[in-house]
Amino acid sequence: MQRLWAPWREGYITKVINNQHRGCIFCRVLKSNKDAKNYIFLRSPLAFAVLNIYPYSNGHCLILSNRHVSDISQLTPAEIQAMMELLLEAKKLLQKTLKPHGFNIGLNLGRMAGAGIPGHVHVHVVPRWQGDHNFMPVTAGTKVISQSLGKIYELLTDVPRKKSSGLW
Ligand SMILES: [Zn+2]
Repeated sequence: MQRLWAPWREGYITKVINNQHRGCIFCRVLKSNKDAKNYIFLRSPLAFAVLNIYPYSNGHCLILSNRHVSDISQLTPAEIQAMMELLLEAKKLLQKTLKPHGFNIGLNLGRMAGAGIPGHVHVHVVPRWQGDHNFMPVTAGTKVISQSLGKIYELLTDVPRKKSSGLW
């Protein structure tokens, strides 16, 4: 059996380790008012959407509850609805701007299942193009990235980034 590996997770994990004293990275960017710097492109009272800084593909984003919970079973019905609404909105934006041929949408629950930040539940939205990979990107460990995060953020928000920034 082929072993699963995911080199893109390493960056997140390193970040988490480096930032442990500062708490959850998702809660931190949510509380920050620097949405462009943090690539947050949608907000609602109960949920938000952010570009993944270690994407599997162009436009790979995450949908999160504003509240810090580690499992979907801890979400309230209102939070589930808010996340689903943002998911649909993000998908619509991605469809309009990047014109993918399809999407992988899903959850990795727990670090053993591939969650880079298992403490704060998040739904992955991964745009796919015909011929981009032969396998699910979550298992293939390959990335084909041709557009920068900053450019994609501009496309999704229609807001030019005032300063290009690096990572969280
Ligand atoms: Zn959190």
